[in-house]
Amino acid sequence: MILGILGGIGSGKSTVTRMFADLGAKTLDADAIAHELIEREDTKSTLRQWWGDEIISEDGTVDRTKIAERVFSDAEELVRLERLLHPEVRARIEEKISEFKENNEKLVVLDVPLLASSTLRDFCDEILFVNSTEALRETRVKVRGWSPDELKRREAQQVPESDKKILANSIINNSGSLNETRQQVEDLYESLLAIDFTERE
Ligand code: ATP
Repeated sequence: MILGILGGIGSGKSTVTRMFADLGAKTLDADAIAHELIEREDTKSTLRQWWGDEIISEDGTVDRTKIAERVFSDAEELVRLERLLHPEVRARIEEKISEFKENNEKLVVLDVPLLASSTLRDFCDEILFVNSTEALRETRVKVRGWSPDELKRREAQQVPESDKKILANSIINNSGSLNETRQQVEDLYESLLAIDFTERE
């Protein structure tokens, strides 16, 4: 079965996804796929044409901070970047899902930041919302150098948290310790594996 993960920025989606991986689930991380794609020579050359050499770091890799500065201050630039990356990321995810299905993997976890507004949601048998208070999310993203305003600016580009919650059929509270979260992940993992999805159709 395919489990999609939703939640606010810094809510703990990657943390929860890793916990599922520790239990044996296969995971697909759209951010990681996008990062690989962005370093491909053809993508790099397109980005350079759009935004100049300044978006390439001294070591020759793409300076993702510079890209983020551009796209999060200009909605049109964000759309342009998404149009370039999303079809490829989606194709890669679809390919991996087929592979996992062929191998009869019991659980595949999709950590796709824009899942709420993506048709990839159609692949999901279940949707999980990872909940953390706004204050905690602000503290947790501070280590990335993001101020509370930066967090709000990025969240404003996404489907609102309250709408993501409505899309979900289970919820994990990640406002406590990592151990408390791990316990909830283990419980959910057991109950998901007990569901017979063939009976739902
Ligand atoms: P993004 O939306 O940017 O992808 P995310 O929802 O995947 O973020 P994580 O990267 O999992 O969030 O978590 C954000 C930060 O908070 C990380 O540094 C992580 O280690 C930390 N963190 C997550 N959950 C907890 C927790 N329960 N206790 C303490 N720290 C936590």
